Amino acid sequence: MAEFNENAKIWYDGKMVDWKEATVHVMCHALHYGSSVFEGIRCYDTKKGPAIFRLHDHIKRLFNSAKIYRMEIPFTIEQLEQACINIVKINNMRSAYLRPIAFRGYGRLGVDPKDTPVQVVVAALDWGKYLGDEAINIGVDVRVSSWNRMQSNTLPAMAKAGSNYMNSQLIKMEAAADGYLEGIALTPQGLISEGSGENLFLIYGGKIITPPLFASILPGITRDSIITIARELGYVVEEQMIPREMLYIADELFFTGTAAEVTPIKSVDRILIGTGKRGPITERIQKHFFGILTGDIEDKYGWLTPIYV
Ligand code: PMP
Repeated sequence: MAEFNENAKIWYDGKMVDWKEATVHVMCHALHYGSSVFEGIRCYDTKKGPAIFRLHDHIKRLFNSAKIYRMEIPFTIEQLEQACINIVKINNMRSAYLRPIAFRGYGRLGVDPKDTPVQVVVAALDWGKYLGDEAINIGVDVRVSSWNRMQSNTLPAMAKAGSNYMNSQLIKMEAAADGYLEGIALTPQGLISEGSGENLFLIYGGKIITPPLFASILPGITRDSIITIARELGYVVEEQMIPREMLYIADELFFTGTAAEVTPIKSVDRILIGTGKRGPITERIQKHFFGILTGDIEDKYGWLTPIYV
């Protein structure tokens, strides 16, 4: 979980404000109708100093999420990228989890957001390993959720909207109540979609398979990075609809996400995956991914934006 540092500054509509002053009114539109879009971005302490991972891609996705919801963000992509860099600098952080959020603010009540201003915040938090320190090496136990992801014509999964996380909360709370670390949700048609806050990869017969965008998934930026890395390492990666039972017979399974990074899955519904430990392909991909983030492996795709140039 993220620790709050109440001495930190928050970027709020273009200004740096004190943590305690970064507030909203209780009649704010987003609080009543879920009208927010957000991002989760990591800044890593690399050998060359702190650097933000795929900053442009995250801010671009924020604008895409807003566009889907007809929300006009009153800043440019460049301004929000700069806000992310500045919030790390002003809080003197080496590594951070950045949370940009755009939401419909205080104006008037009513579902139609007309006359409610769009407000933007960027906060920086300390956030370690999302699914626990051991999870990265050992793996996590998960269940298939009884909750499905939403359909693209109900709540669009490609938008990283606050409202989608009501569905994620159902998946996560159900998993936790039953003693699992996470849940895997199916699509409304019963095929594999994703975790409550992670994309999913499956390895079967040496091939790497992940559900396509039309499987009600968020187009994960870690997912995209892992597809790129896996292909570079010589693996075949296919985006395919996956039936539930493939989970149980997979050789390896892992989650990807900004918070979860690359987390192996060691069991699903108490059925061991492969040998019940992190598999060799997962480990190889993880090593390469973390190598780029520490600076030990060349960042040849230009994924890292340094905080200090
Ligand atoms: N799916 C969901 C539902 C998520 O919340 C996240 C985390 N943002 C992901 C997938 C992974 O996306 P990313 O790699 O861009 O963090």
